Amino acid sequence: MADICDDSDAINEAFIERGVKAAQASLSVRRLAPTGICHNSRCEADVEEGKLFCDNQCAEEHRRTEKLRAISGTRH
Ligand SMILES: [Zn+2]
Repeated sequence: MADICDDSDAINEAFIERGVKAAQASLSVRRLAPTGICHNSRCEADVEEGKLFCDNQCAEEHRRTEKLRAISGTRH
């Protein structure tokens, strides 16, 4: 019984740790995953692997667009 509890604790801790890391990552850029293409919908240029935007200008523009979209409440 004790062994089962210990195992599930370890699994829960690993699960929580992953969740925390995912949450921390999503704080900087919400809901985005690197696709090899700039996430700025007005740009969509090829970007290096693991990057979300081709440059800071695109990242800023995307954030502004997202903010405006959130304020106006429009959805795709
Ligand atoms: Zn771009």
